[in-house]
Amino acid sequence: MTTKWVYAFEEGNAAMRDLLGGKGANLAEMTGIGLPVPPGFIITTEACLAYLNQGEQFPEGMWDQAVTAMGELAKKMNRQFGDNSDPLLVSVRSGARFSMPGMMDTILNLGLNDEAVKALEARSGDARFAWDAYRRLVQMFGKVVLDIEGHLFEELLDRIKAEEGIQTDPEISAQGWQKVTQWFKDLIKKETGEEFPQDPWQQLERAVEAVFKSWNGKRAVDYRNATGISHDLGTAVNIQTMVFGNVGWDSGSGVAFTRDPSTGERDLFGEYLFNAQGEDVVSGARTPTEVHHLAEEAPEAWKTLSTISDKLEKHYRNMQDMEFTIENGKLWMLQTRNGKRTAAAEVKIAVDMVDEGLISQEEAVSRIEWFQIDQLLHPRFDEEEVAKVGVLAKGLNASPGAAVGKVYFDADTAEEKAKAGEAVILVRPETTPDDVHGMLVAEGILTQHGGATSHAAVVARQLGKPCVAGCEGLRISLKERQFEADGTVVKEGDTLSLDGGTGRVFLGVIPTVAPSFDDQPELQRILDWADQIRRLEVWANADDPDQAARARRYGAQGIGLCRTEHMFLGDRTEKFQQAVLAAERGDRDEFQRVLDDILLPLQREDFYGIFKVMDGLPVIIRLLDPPLHEFLPALEELVEQVAILKTQGKSDPQKEALLATVRDMHEFNPMLGLRGCRLGITMPELNTMQVRAIFEAACDAAKEGTVVKPEVMIPLTSHVNELNRIQPLLEDVAKTVMKEKGIEVEYKFGTMIEIPRAALTAGEIAEVAQFFSFGTNDLTQMAFGISRDDAERKFLLRYADPHDLNILPTNPFQAIDQIGVGRLMQMAVDEGRAARPDLEVGICGEHGGEASSIDFCHRIGLDYVSCSPFRVPVARLAAAHAVINEKRS
Ligand code: PEP
Ligand code: MG
Repeated sequence: MTTKWVYAFEEGNAAMRDLLGGKGANLAEMTGIGLPVPPGFIITTEACLAYLNQGEQFPEGMWDQAVTAMGELAKKMNRQFGDNSDPLLVSVRSGARFSMPGMMDTILNLGLNDEAVKALEARSGDARFAWDAYRRLVQMFGKVVLDIEGHLFEELLDRIKAEEGIQTDPEISAQGWQKVTQWFKDLIKKETGEEFPQDPWQQLERAVEAVFKSWNGKRAVDYRNATGISHDLGTAVNIQTMVFGNVGWDSGSGVAFTRDPSTGERDLFGEYLFNAQGEDVVSGARTPTEVHHLAEEAPEAWKTLSTISDKLEKHYRNMQDMEFTIENGKLWMLQTRNGKRTAAAEVKIAVDMVDEGLISQEEAVSRIEWFQIDQLLHPRFDEEEVAKVGVLAKGLNASPGAAVGKVYFDADTAEEKAKAGEAVILVRPETTPDDVHGMLVAEGILTQHGGATSHAAVVARQLGKPCVAGCEGLRISLKERQFEADGTVVKEGDTLSLDGGTGRVFLGVIPTVAPSFDDQPELQRILDWADQIRRLEVWANADDPDQAARARRYGAQGIGLCRTEHMFLGDRTEKFQQAVLAAERGDRDEFQRVLDDILLPLQREDFYGIFKVMDGLPVIIRLLDPPLHEFLPALEELVEQVAILKTQGKSDPQKEALLATVRDMHEFNPMLGLRGCRLGITMPELNTMQVRAIFEAACDAAKEGTVVKPEVMIPLTSHVNELNRIQPLLEDVAKTVMKEKGIEVEYKFGTMIEIPRAALTAGEIAEVAQFFSFGTNDLTQMAFGISRDDAERKFLLRYADPHDLNILPTNPFQAIDQIGVGRLMQMAVDEGRAARPDLEVGICGEHGGEASSIDFCHRIGLDYVSCSPFRVPVARLAAAHAVINEKRS
């Protein structure tokens, strides 16, 4: 049996996206549910792949099937394709599995030629329309199929307007369009040496080939690389009977979303133009009218559109992005798809759809992607700073977020500068698919023309990039590489700040502030639902009461890591140095005095603050981890200072003594040196001071009625004997303090698992430790034998770049290496729990806030993940997704 390469719209449905592409599957679905869709058919994605894999040959039988399908169309429309006396005209559009905005082009009015255009003129009684239609075909064919640069056509359009003394395309006369058509044909001849094909079947064949080839075009490949879409899907081709929005003022074209794609508000959102085709609406050449005006200007079409909008939403249970054309008052649907939207809209729509009974809470949770939560919690501009600077220009708030960067006026330069590490704002008169590579790397996008559904707006929303569109106050000069706004000239390389949420543009850098979680009630509802689904608890890494308070507001259920070394920084460094130097001198009395009199009270205060904030929740406090010389001046610095003094014939005995100490403490591999529990073992006074501070603070807070659950964490254990040595000593301190204070609190002693040997001997270690916390930063460094901070600068990013060395699938410091490091973790969980069934196990390395790692932690049965306070909302969602994923697989 020969393969079926071609499907009529009646033969498909929405479930056939893989084969028919998104657009085709939805056209088929709309046809199936009885909506007014111009008849057509789809050539499958498999045909595209076969074509590309067979040296650019149509697969056997495909063309015959397409010809037969055209015959069926002819019967339905009562017109023949290729009949120059009454031509059937079609559009050819690409449509891949995933919609890729503006990635591949459309060709309209196929079937026209020098003869058929006259028949179209006679049929419509409108010469202007007929010649405009023909020139569009020649122009699109020239651009898309023959690869002629678009601006060459645009220049001829400018020429005719100059000749006719007019400003806009709709004013061009019938004779003008006729002339332009000839110029376009001449241009094609000049650029390619061939004539524009007069044979409609040849037009069709070449258009289909062009769609197939565009799958491997640079733009499409760049976009797929950036968004992680597979290169092996191929695109379908949609061939559809033309309906015309430009046959007079009772016709038009528009784009509408069933809900507002920026805010999620439940109200039709969109734009239309009378006497125009679809491309006129998105090109920004004419300013479209807001869709609600249809209610007065074309009431019948408005009623149909509103009804269809409701029907499509109920049918798809998702917000739809629709394209429609009105031909002599009758509304036709040309496309529907799930609409691209901002993160805020995604969340609001999901919550509203639960309230409307369209979807379940679980479905709402599963629809939100982790990075959307991240976007909602991105910094915003500080309004106090904004007030000082003043607004340079204002445009449409096309895609929210705050962006700061240097201005560049073309995508290639933007890409080059971004690669060199600059933050870039791409400024364009308007964007087209040719600009997407620049948009991908830009912090934000600013356009002079175009509306809320313009290319720039749609793509920016999808990419989650701030965008201000249609900023008509700018006067961009691409030639001089500058723009002028309100009397200010901004040159290439100047810095701008863009507020995509309000459409404001500022000169210079506006500082940002942390976002507010409290005024995002819909986000909170989604996360509450996520909490009901997830099994993993979400804790936070926090080093002070402020961070702990933020973590709690964001929903943290405990502190998984309080890094106490951060408490010895800033103005406390000097005090800590005093202790270190005394210890190194062997002056035990002075060492103890600094610890007891100076550092203990400070630490107690730190811990007390955290316990108060975390009332009722566990708090894991890690004993000092880094090597002590990190708190002293750098060796090179001291050497230099002492040398300079010497050349001046001076000396500073104190500095020289300090230098001697630092030299003495110097290690070749400090990360593998005297740090973690090794410090505590060789210098137990440090740890006993910290444990005393923890328990004094805990007891003080408990006496005030606060429920405290301190958990003391010993870092960098490699051998159980390390714990055997230090832990009983520290437990004694805890007990002594509680006795002194006359109050008992619930507590635990446990350890980090961050050295492979600890994971391999977890059974022994769990005999002593009451909890494990995976320090996957160190565990990854030591499992790979890679020093993160050095490697990320040198080779690691290249290792994980699929276009470069491609040795690792991802950077293992971002996402857990499940096969290697993950195996160590799994082993440690299993053996640890075998030795101690109620062993508490979590993760506090950076991976604790990363979605794929959280999914892994769920699967290997951890009790919690701990991450930075800002990541807590993301982790709550990702932990729920882990449960949903597990159910689905
Ligand atoms: C770790 O190693 O994963 C960890 C949390 O400790 P640090 O990053 O402080 O070394
Ligand atoms: Mg560590």
